[in-house]
Amino acid sequence: MTRKVKVTWPPCTCGNHCLGPLTFNPEVKGRHVKLSAGDRRAMRNPRSFHHGVTFSNRPLQVREKVHLRVERCVAGWHGALRLGFTSVPPGSGPMCSLAIPELTDKPGFWAIPVPEHCCTPRTELTFWVTHTGYLRIQTDDWFDQKEKMLQMDTSKPIWAMIDVYGQTSSVLLLGSEKKTLFCKRRSCPAAEIVATEENCGYDQIPELILRRMSTKSPLGQSDAEMELHGLDDKEVCVVCISETPCVLLDCGHYCLCSQCAKRVISDFGTCPLCRQSIR
Ligand SMILES: [Zn+2]
Ligand SMILES: [Zn+2]
Ligand SMILES: [Zn+2]
Repeated sequence: MTRKVKVTWPPCTCGNHCLGPLTFNPEVKGRHVKLSAGDRRAMRNPRSFHHGVTFSNRPLQVREKVHLRVERCVAGWHGALRLGFTSVPPGSGPMCSLAIPELTDKPGFWAIPVPEHCCTPRTELTFWVTHTGYLRIQTDDWFDQKEKMLQMDTSKPIWAMIDVYGQTSSVLLLGSEKKTLFCKRRSCPAAEIVATEENCGYDQIPELILRRMSTKSPLGQSDAEMELHGLDDKEVCVVCISETPCVLLDCGHYCLCSQCAKRVISDFGTCPLCRQSIR
């Protein structure tokens, strides 16, 4: 059963009705993420599709609706923003390159992938935990499907988990609100950031990465050449980011170590780079 949790951290001076400041956690974030706009904007390096996991700076209340704007997208990567919550205090638990499945495989992490067509630049999304402990995500023209509803453990404080993944490369936290019987409570007032041509739009995957993605063998692109172009990604397995790739997939991609290949083939059956079937 769920029980009400009183969350009072961190304090602010706006008064009793304020839900508190809402930003990304500047201490705990994926290594390709940079925060700006007072930690309200999270931008992932568009040269990478992962290491974009972020968390809220404070626990969220049940029925506190978080508003988020998608600002920038990268045409070419597969998949998009993943939204969810965690009851594992950010920084105390594991940090992974992906919210789904690496974190959601662990207890205390819940997330839903937002469809690519619902994550175009300027899209505004709302996500929250219902009073019965379900994760809900909503845009103007999309609502997460009931069968995918995730029941979360709200007996502990829960933090928002925002994976700036795949096509989604920059998101802005607009604030949060919670309707009560008598009033609408909001997060601390924050300067309005208007969607403009400059902060919202599409980026391209750099040519070099595209070539690497289409490389059919490990000989096609040397580590030295990647380094020459200032990329921090060495030739490592795209899932664990540590082992050397050693499995040639049916699609021709050479991007997984043997451990991860086993898991990707049994759990997903598709190449993480091109989504071709590899069963
Ligand atoms: Zn406040
Ligand atoms: Zn691996
Ligand atoms: Zn492939």
